[in-house]
Amino acid sequence: MATRRRTQRQGTGARGGRHTRKQSHKTQWFSVTALAMLGVVMVLHPEAGRQQNLASQFGAGDQRVIASDEPSDQPTVAPTPVPTATFTMPLRPAPTLTRPPKGSKPNVTVSSGRLAVVAGFSKANGVRDKLTYRVEIEEGLSFNGAVVAAAIHKTLTDPRGWQAIHPVSFERTDRADADLRIILATPTLTDKLCLPLDTGGEVSCRVDNRVVLNAKRWMYAVPAYAAQIDLYRSYLVNHEVGHALGHGHSTCAKPNTPAPVMMQQTKGLAGCLPNAWPTIKAT
Ligand SMILES: [Zn+2]
Repeated sequence: MATRRRTQRQGTGARGGRHTRKQSHKTQWFSVTALAMLGVVMVLHPEAGRQQNLASQFGAGDQRVIASDEPSDQPTVAPTPVPTATFTMPLRPAPTLTRPPKGSKPNVTVSSGRLAVVAGFSKANGVRDKLTYRVEIEEGLSFNGAVVAAAIHKTLTDPRGWQAIHPVSFERTDRADADLRIILATPTLTDKLCLPLDTGGEVSCRVDNRVVLNAKRWMYAVPAYAAQIDLYRSYLVNHEVGHALGHGHSTCAKPNTPAPVMMQQTKGLAGCLPNAWPTIKAT
C-alpha cells in the first residue's frame, strides 16, 4: 500500500509537476509579453518613462493622479503634445573667445624676453641670389605670426622693393641657418637686441644679421603716416633690410617729394612725403 500510495502520489506528483511546469510556462509567456508590450510603449513614448523616473526622483509619487474618467469640475484642457523625439546630438559646446574682449588694448610693450620663430616657408619669387630670412616674434605680443610673416614677405618681394634693385630674391624659412632674422619685439627687447645702437624704446634697427622691428611702431606707426599703417610697416621692413643690404641713411632732398626709404622717416619727414619703396625716388 505504502508503495502503491507512494506511486500514486508520485504519479500525482508527476502530473502535478507537469501542470506546474505548464503554469510556469504560461506565467513566463505572460511576463515576456507584458515586458515586450511595456517595451513597445516605452519606445513609442520614451518621455513617459522619463517623466515617471523624474516623478519618482522628485517625490511626485505623493501627488494624487486624477484618472481621465474620474469626475472633475476642472475645465478640460487640451493636452499639450509632448515631443517624442530624443536628442542624440551632443549639445553645442560653449563658444570660445577667439579675440580679446572688447575694449582691451593689444600688448605691444609688456616684454616676455622670449622669441618664437614663426613656422612656415614662403618661396622666393626671383631667380637671383637667394637670401633666406626667418621671422621671430616676442612671445606675449598681440600679433598673429602668420599675418606678420605674410606682410613681411609681400613687402620684400614687391616689384617696387629691393629685389628690383639688388640681385637678390627673398625666401622665408623657419630654419636656424637663415641668412637674416627679422624680429618683431617689444621696445624693451628691441633696445637689448639693438645694442650697441641706441633705439631708446621708440625706433627699430639692424645689427649684424638681426633686423629688429619695434612692436610699438609696427602697431601705431608714426603721425606722418596717419592711417597708412601697412605703408609704414613696409617702410620699416625695407629701411632695416636696406641696412642689411649695405645701404646707409639719406635725407629728404626736396620737400613734397617722396622721402627716400633710407631716410629715418620715423624721426620725421622734413617736408617729404611718406614712401616705403626703394624704387620710388624724388625726381
Ligand atoms: Zn636706419
